[in-house]
Amino acid sequence: MNFGVAHTPDSLTALLLEKCKANENDCWVWQGAKDAAGYGFVFFRGKKYRIHRIAAWLYKRVPLRHSTIRVRHRNDLCDRACCNPDHLVKTTLELQARLANKLANEIRWAQ
Ligand SMILES: [Zn+2]
Repeated sequence: MNFGVAHTPDSLTALLLEKCKANENDCWVWQGAKDAAGYGFVFFRGKKYRIHRIAAWLYKRVPLRHSTIRVRHRNDLCDRACCNPDHLVKTTLELQARLANKLANEIRWAQ
């Protein structure tokens, strides 16, 4: 597999632009390595990061590593390997847990 490796923010940006391909939903779909869940990833300064987290850091100044801040795709139409900064939403662990609970309740109610 073709792993993306970068050591500076500039080389990361170049890699992102080179390896992403826009689809019909305007997703920038990462064409490099993906994990089992379908998320694109890259190695930056020796550590593995999901590519949408890298895009949020480069374009939206979301901290790359944080104990509670998370980055998610804005909706279900978005490809998991998408790194279009406009398709990314900053969230927190707590909000994600609440959203998961709400969805679980909706599913229970629907059954
Ligand atoms: Zn997208």
